[in-house]
Order: sequence, then structure tokens, then C-alpha cells
Amino acid sequence: MKIGVFGGTFNPPHIGHLNIAEGFQREFNLSKLMVIPTFVPPHKISPDLASAEDRIKMCELTFSSEYYEISDVESQRQGRSYTVDTLTELSKTYEDAEFYFLVGDDMLLSLHTWKDPERILELCKIVSTIRSDSYTVEDLEEYAKEYFPEAYEKGRFKFIYVPPIELSSTEIRERVKAGESIDDMVTEPVKDFIFARGLYCD
Ligand code: ATP
Repeated sequence: MKIGVFGGTFNPPHIGHLNIAEGFQREFNLSKLMVIPTFVPPHKISPDLASAEDRIKMCELTFSSEYYEISDVESQRQGRSYTVDTLTELSKTYEDAEFYFLVGDDMLLSLHTWKDPERILELCKIVSTIRSDSYTVEDLEEYAKEYFPEAYEKGRFKFIYVPPIELSSTEIRERVKAGESIDDMVTEPVKDFIFARGLYCD
């Protein structure tokens, strides 16, 4: 069984996220794709940062096909979550699964700063997508080869090209604050949810 894992703050989840998740699913024919909103310390919850409950709800309203599973494994954990711990936990729950961990190019390029990246690469294959015109697949391959030569040789890195939708959660929050339209940037139900809950408007 192939399980995809897609972590992020998802504050809020947007169609750029959905776009890469769909491309990921198509490319690897995953049995399921677990969407995992990260924990945010309670004292950091602010008008700019929705609560874990709201972010989980918005993920459900974005990733609605049957192969998505929204997981609260990180957001409910007390304290900061590390990818290596989450993958260790998932690999105990799904013993025979092969894990594919999806990241955008910016996240991939910080992999060497994560906790225990070598162990992460044993627990899963890392699948990186191109997020904008800033990087090419060659740039990402160079990075992987330089920092993690062994894992690279073993084929633990995969690169997929999904035509990028250049969009960020930051841009959406700024537009909400400025009273500008976010149509077509988030799904319709997420848009309704943001306005109904008064998120991101101070
Ligand atoms: P923020 O603007 O608040 O930093 P974000 O839009 O980068 O948020 P995250 O929740 O931090 O969203 O992203 C989760 C993952 O999705 C990361 O791996 C990130 O690189 C990737 N990602 C986010 N937006 C896009 C996009 N438009 N295209 C491809 N990947 C994306």
C-alpha cells in the first residue's frame, strides 16, 4: 500500500495545495493521501493564525475526495511535532505501507535543517514539486545529491512537475485583511468558512 503524506500549516489550505496534492496522487497512484496540519503553540494563535480545529475543518473542505484523510496526529500533540516522529508513528500504524512525503521546492531545500533527515529518508521517499519559476528540477536534484548523496543514489528522492499555481496562504490572508476577493484561490466552502468565522480580518 502506498500512502502519501502532505504536511503544512494550511492557514488556510488553498488551491495551490490542492493542485500539487492532485498531481501527487495521479503520479503515484496512492491508496490514500494523509493531509497533516502542523501543531501551532496556543500562545501563537492570533488573528493571523487560525486554530487547529479551524485549519482541520478547512482541510476537510479542501481535500474532499475519498482518498484524502485529514489527520490531527500533529495538531493534537502537545508540543512541536517533528516529521521524523510523525513518520515513525505512521509506520507503526501502517506496518506494510510505503510512505511518500510531499513537499514544495522551498521545503525540500531546507531538509538538511530538519530533525534527523537521514532517518526521514529511511522512513519515506520525499517527493518534491516545483512551486514557482524560482527553481528547476535540476536545482532540486543538485541539492539532494550534495546533501544526501546516499539517499539520492538509492532513489529516495522523487521529483514531479505539476504545472504550478503560484499562490500562498500569506497572500490569501493579506487579501482577506484588505477586503479583496479570494475567489478561485480557495475552494468555495473554505471561502464561506473564512468569512463566517471572521478569520484573518483582525
Ligand atoms: P504561508 O504563506 O503561510 O507560509 P504556504 O502557502 O507556504 O503558507 P504551507 O501550509 O506552509 O503553505 O505549505 C505546505 C506545503 O505546501 C509546503 O511543502 C509548501 O512548499 C507547499 N506549497 C504551498 N503552496 C504551494 C503552491 N502554490 N504550489 C506548490 N506547493 C505549495
